[in-house]
Amino acid sequence: MLRPNEQKNIDILRYIKMHNQVYAPNSSLPALPEHLRKLERIWVDKSVLHTAMTQRVLAGVGHLPVEIVDQEQRPKDYDHELGILYLKHYKGRFLRSCPGTSHYHCCGYRIVHIGENCPLSCSYCILQAYFQDRVLKVWANQEDLFGELERAFGEHPQRRLRLGTGEFTDSLTLEPLTGYSRDLVAFLSDYPQVCLELKSKVVNLSWMDQARRPDRVLPAWSMNAPHIQAGEERGSATLEERLQAARYCARSGFRVCLHFDPVIPCNDWEQGYARTVEMIADYLRPEQVAYISLGSLRFMPELKSRIMTNHPSSNYIYAEFITGLDGKQRLLRPLRVRQLRHVAHMLRRAGFEGLYLCMESDEVWQDVLECTPRKLGGLARYLMARVFGAEFSAVTE
Ligand code: SF4
Repeated sequence: MLRPNEQKNIDILRYIKMHNQVYAPNSSLPALPEHLRKLERIWVDKSVLHTAMTQRVLAGVGHLPVEIVDQEQRPKDYDHELGILYLKHYKGRFLRSCPGTSHYHCCGYRIVHIGENCPLSCSYCILQAYFQDRVLKVWANQEDLFGELERAFGEHPQRRLRLGTGEFTDSLTLEPLTGYSRDLVAFLSDYPQVCLELKSKVVNLSWMDQARRPDRVLPAWSMNAPHIQAGEERGSATLEERLQAARYCARSGFRVCLHFDPVIPCNDWEQGYARTVEMIADYLRPEQVAYISLGSLRFMPELKSRIMTNHPSSNYIYAEFITGLDGKQRLLRPLRVRQLRHVAHMLRRAGFEGLYLCMESDEVWQDVLECTPRKLGGLARYLMARVFGAEFSAVTE
C-alpha cells in the first residue's frame, strides 16, 4: 500500500511524462506537445516584439521562421491554415460578457480574451465559422490586458465574477509556448473576488503552482462519448488523460468542472455517453465537481458547409436540425431532450449535482432537469453560489 506522498509522487511523474512529450528538433529547445508540432512560422506585430510574451514564445520556437508584421497591413497568406502563430497587439476589450444567445438561458460568465483560434481540429468547432481565418492569434500586449482587469476589478471590488478564457480559443493548448494561463492565475491571485475557469481538451497543469487559492481556479475539461473524442476531436487528450488530470487537480484541492458540450447525435450515443459517465465516476467524487454543463449540438448555419468540407466523414451533420429562435441550427427538440435527459440521468444516478443546460429554454430545462433556472434563483446566481459557496451572499451584478 502506497503512502499518500508516494502516490502523489507517482502522479507527478506521470504528469511530467504527459506534459513533456519528447520532441526537440533542436535539443536546446523545450519539447513541444504533439498538437503544436504543426506550427510552421511565427508572425509578430512590430509593437509587441519586445514584450515578455513574445520573447517567451520565440524562445520556445526558435527553430521556426519569424516574420515581423506591420499590424495595419494584413499579412499575405492570412488565410493560410493553422500553421501560423501570430503574436498580436490587441486593441479591443479584453474583458467581455459571454456572447451567449438571445431567447435562451445563458450562464453569465465573463470572458478574458487572450487570443483566437485553436491548434486542435474538432470537427464541430464553432470557431471554423466564427472567425474569418484560422490563424492562431495570441494577444502579446499582456500589460494592457492586466491593466484593464485591474481597473475593472478596482471599480467594483465587492463584485464576484466568474471568468474564463475558453470561449474564443482553448484555455491551455498554447500554454507550453505562451504560459498565458499561468500568468493569469498568478495575476488573479490578488483578486479573491474572482474565480477563473480554465477550459480545455488537453492536459497541461503548469499553471497550478501559481494558484495561491485553489478555490479560485476551476480546471475544466470537455467530455464527450469516447468514440466522439477519438473520431471528432483530433489532437485532443483522451478522456482518460483528461480525467486523470481532473483527479490530480481534485486531490490537490481544486474543484473541477465538466462540460458535455456538444452532445452529438451519433450512432451508439446512449452507450457512448453512459460509458463516459462511468469513467467520470471512476475518477471523481461528486463533491470534487463544481458544476457540469450539458449542451446539445447547435451552430450557425454557415458552419454546416465548413464541417462538410473540412471533415467529410462527420456524418452527424446530416441529422435533422431546425432553426432556433436565435437563428442557430439545433436538433429537433424530442431528440435533443432525449439525449440530454439520458446524460443528466446517468450523472445524477452516479451522485453528481450542479448540472445545468447551455442555451436552452425553460421547457427543455423542465423536460431534462425537472426544474428551471428561475427555481434555482437564476442560472448565473446558481453557478456563482456553486463556485463561491457560503461567501456568495449578495451579488452586486
Ligand atoms: S478544443 Fe475547442 S476551440 Fe479547440 S478546436 Fe476543439 S472545439 Fe475548437
